[in-house]
Amino acid sequence: MDFEHTPEQIALRRAVREFAEAEIAPHVLEWDEGQIFPLEEIRKLGRLGYMGAIFPEELGGAGLGYIEYAIIIEELSRVDGSVGIIVAAHTSLCTNHIYKMGSEEQRHRYIPKLAGGEWLGCWSLTEPEAGSDAAGTRTKAVRDGDCWVLDGAKTFTTNAHYADVCVAMAVTDRAAAQHGITAFVIEKGTPGFRAGKKENKLGLRASATGEVIFENCRLGDQHVVGKLNNGFVDSLKVLDGGRVSIAALSIGMAQGAYDAALRYSKTRHQFGRPISEFQAIQHKLVDMAVDLDAARLLNYRAAWMIDHGQRVTRESSMAKLFASEAAVRIANEAVQIHGGYGFIKDYPVEKFYRDVKLCTIGEGTSEIQRMVIARQLLNS
Ligand SMILES: Cc1cc2nc3c(=O)[nH]c(=O)nc-3n(C[C@H](O)[C@H](O)[C@H](O)COP(=O)(O)OP(=O)(O)OC[C@H]3O[C@@H](n4cnc5c(N)ncnc54)[C@H](O)[C@@H]3O)c2cc1C
Repeated sequence: MDFEHTPEQIALRRAVREFAEAEIAPHVLEWDEGQIFPLEEIRKLGRLGYMGAIFPEELGGAGLGYIEYAIIIEELSRVDGSVGIIVAAHTSLCTNHIYKMGSEEQRHRYIPKLAGGEWLGCWSLTEPEAGSDAAGTRTKAVRDGDCWVLDGAKTFTTNAHYADVCVAMAVTDRAAAQHGITAFVIEKGTPGFRAGKKENKLGLRASATGEVIFENCRLGDQHVVGKLNNGFVDSLKVLDGGRVSIAALSIGMAQGAYDAALRYSKTRHQFGRPISEFQAIQHKLVDMAVDLDAARLLNYRAAWMIDHGQRVTRESSMAKLFASEAAVRIANEAVQIHGGYGFIKDYPVEKFYRDVKLCTIGEGTSEIQRMVIARQLLNS
C-alpha cells in the first residue's frame, strides 16, 4: 500500500489552492450574501482543465484520475463549497453520464465543450415526489412519430439556471417501473425546456439550485443517452462516482473549518493564554483532525478503486456517509472554538456550518447511504 500522494498530485493541490485563494476567497462572502453565481470563475476553471479532470485528453479533458479529481474538489471547497458543488455536479454527474453511457457522437458533441468549461452541465434526477425514491420519477417521455415528447418537472437541480446542457431522467415505460426510465440530453434553447424556480437556500448560496421544466419538449433519438429504459440503472452507476465528489466536497469544507479553528485557537486569548492551551479545545481539534484523516482515507480508497476499474458502490457510499457526517461535526466544533465570533459572518466558519449540511442530504441522504451499504453487506 502507498499512502503518499505523487509529486504531480502535490503540485496539483498547490495550484488549485493558489487559484482558490487568489480568485475565489476575496468574493466568497459577497457571492454568498447576494446568491451570485460565479460564472466567470467557472469559465477560468475550465481553461485550467479543472472542469474536465477525469475525461481523456482526446475529448478535451485533463486525463487525470479520481484521486486528482477529489483533490480539485477538496481545494475549491476548502475556500467555497458553492464552487465545489458547481464543479462536482457538472463533472461527475452531467459530463460523466454522457461519457460513460453516451454514444461516440454524443461524446464528441458534448464532452470537449463541457470539459473545457465552455459549456456548463447539470443533471436532473430528483423530482418533487421522487427524492430518495428516485425510481418514482413522473416526468414522462412519450413516443410521437420519430420524436420523444417530454413533459414534467425536476427539482433541486444544481446549475439548472446556468447550464448549457442537461441530462434528465424521464419515464419511457411506466409499467416497467425503474426499468422504464431513460436518460435524455437536452441543450439550452431547446423549445419546451427551461429552468424554473431558483431556490433560496440555507447554504451553498452562490450555487444555483432549482427546477428544470419540460413542456411538450420534442427530442429526437439522438438525445437518448445510453440504452432505452436503462436510465435509472445508469444513474445509480453515475452516483457511485458522484458520491466521491460529495465526500471530497465535505472534506474540503471540513478542512477549511478546521484550518480556521486551529488558527483562531492560537490567537484568541482568554484567562491570560491562547485558548489552544486549554485541554478542552485541544481535544476538539484532535477529534476534528482524526475525523478529517479518516474521511480522506475512505475517500481516496474509493477514488483509487474507480481509477483501477473496480466497483465502488459500498466504498463510495461509506466515504460519502462518513465524510459528510464528519464534516457536520467538524464545522459545528469550529464554530464552538470561535465562541460568539463563530456566529458572525466576519469569520468563515459561520458559512462552513451552513454549507456542510447539504452533504448529508445531496446524492442520497445518510439514511439512504446506510440502506445502500446494508444491502451490500447483507448480499456479500
Ligand atoms: C442543494 C441541493 C442540490 C441538489 N442537487 C441535485 C442535482 O444536481 N440533481 C438531482 O437530481 N438532485 C439534486 N438534489 C436532490 C437531492 O439528491 C435530494 O434532496 C435527496 O436525494 C433527498 O431527497 P428529498 O429531498 O426528496 O428527501 P426525501 O426523500 O423526501 O427524504 C426525507 C427524509 O426521509 C428519509 N427517508 C426517505 N426514504 C427513506 C427510507 N427508505 N428509509 C429511511 N429514511 C428514509 C430521508 O433520509 C430524509 O431524512 C439536490 C438537493 C439539494 C438540497
